[in-house]
Amino acid sequence: MIKVRNLSKSYGSNKVLDDINLELSKGKIYGVVGENGSGKTTLFKCIAGLEEYSGSIKSEFEPLKNHLGILLTEPYFMSKLTAREYVMLMCNARGRSYKEIDEKNIFDLPLDRYASQYSTGMKKKLAMFTILLQGNAFFILDEPYNGVDIQSNFIITELIKTLRGLGKTILISSHIISSLTEICDDIFLLKEGQMNQSFSKENFKFLEIEMQNDNIADKINLLGLI
Ligand code: ADP
Repeated sequence: MIKVRNLSKSYGSNKVLDDINLELSKGKIYGVVGENGSGKTTLFKCIAGLEEYSGSIKSEFEPLKNHLGILLTEPYFMSKLTAREYVMLMCNARGRSYKEIDEKNIFDLPLDRYASQYSTGMKKKLAMFTILLQGNAFFILDEPYNGVDIQSNFIITELIKTLRGLGKTILISSHIISSLTEICDDIFLLKEGQMNQSFSKENFKFLEIEMQNDNIADKINLLGLI
């Protein structure tokens, strides 16, 4: 169980997160949705300990960062390392075995190429592969489907479901609502810095209604393009 209490975060005068409370259980997949700039990445970085914040985060895994695999929106790789060297380095840092790395390469990545020269989607898949090999208990996946091909989309979805089956906790954001409703147990809506609305499986249809923008057709007409 991971408990987030009264988490707030500002960048200068911009209050991005305002008193967020969350409880995440083992073996569950939690989605976070919200407009661009609503604070999803900031929330994920705070939980991962990559940003300062006020409030508290308590977990049975201490320190949480040693049990956490985070997939960032734009994974960064050092220029002098091949993908294989990168995976080995990251696994070594966690004291994990990276043997049979080729057999476990489910995304068929060209591991002997420089990771920094990978495409956006390949970088996402390499980062996902690395955090899986590290044997984490808690996964934060920020837009895992961005830039990846359809086949990999399917693999990522199956992987996430498998992780849940193994009792892992997963927190995930995606701008593709259907990707989230397919796999999540609960979805939280982040709006104006707050996360007061959560939707369980039975209520996902209300989330879809909430996310629709009824005014958009009128706005397009106003542009005079049609
Ligand atoms: P989302 O992931 O929902 O698109 P972000 O968490 O990336 O949103 O951004 C939330 C807000 O915080 C935005 O207004 C963004 O400009 C601001 N922000 C994010 N990172 C920083 C930063 N390092 N410095 C200043 N402002 C930031």
